Amino acid sequence: YLPRIAVVGRPNVGKSTLFNRLAGKPLAIVDDRPGVTRDRREARGRLGDMELLLIDTAGYDDGEKAGLDAEMRTQTEIALEDADLCLFLIDARTGVTPLDKSFADVIRRSGKPVVLVANKCEGRFGESGLMDSYGLGLGEPVPLSAAHGGGIGDLYDAVETGL
Ligand code: GDP
Ligand code: MG
Repeated sequence: YLPRIAVVGRPNVGKSTLFNRLAGKPLAIVDDRPGVTRDRREARGRLGDMELLLIDTAGYDDGEKAGLDAEMRTQTEIALEDADLCLFLIDARTGVTPLDKSFADVIRRSGKPVVLVANKCEGRFGESGLMDSYGLGLGEPVPLSAAHGGGIGDLYDAVETGL
C-alpha cells in the first residue's frame, strides 16, 4: 500500500512542478465519473526513502474562464476523498490570496491531514508571503522551492509526521 498524496492549491502555485519533481512513472487514471479525469494525473513517486502515490490536480491554464474556480474546487474535493494527506501549495512570493483561502476551506472540510507548503521560496524575495500563510490556520508552512529543489528535507519531515 502506497500513501496517497494529493497536491492541491489554486492555479500557478507550482503543483505540477512539485509533482514532476517527486514523480516517477505516470499511471493511467481510471475514473468513470464524468469530467473528473480530465486534468488529474497520478504517478508513483518518491520523497526521500518514502514511496508515494502522487495526485496532481486541476492543471487548468485558462485561468479567466467562467466557472473555473468552482470546477477546480470540485476536482480538489474529489482528489481529497481518496487521499491520505494533501500538500496544499501557496505562492510564497504572492502571499495568501482570496482563492487560496477558499481552497483552505475545502481542505479543512475534508478533514484530511494537510501539509501547508509555501512554494517559490528561493532567492531574496522568496519568503515575503511566508508569514502571511500562518493566517490560514493550517499549521506551520514548509518553505519550498519546487523548481529548484530547496526544502525537500523539511517537506519529508512534515509528510512523515502528517501520515
Ligand atoms: P500549477 O498550476 O500549480 O500546477 O503550477 P505550475 O507547476 O504549472 O507552475 C506555475 C509557474 O510557477 C511555472 O512558471 C513554474 O515554472 C513556476 N514555479 C513552480 N515552482 C516554482 C518555484 O519553486 N520557484 C519559482 N520561482 N517558480 C516556480
Ligand atoms: Mg498544474
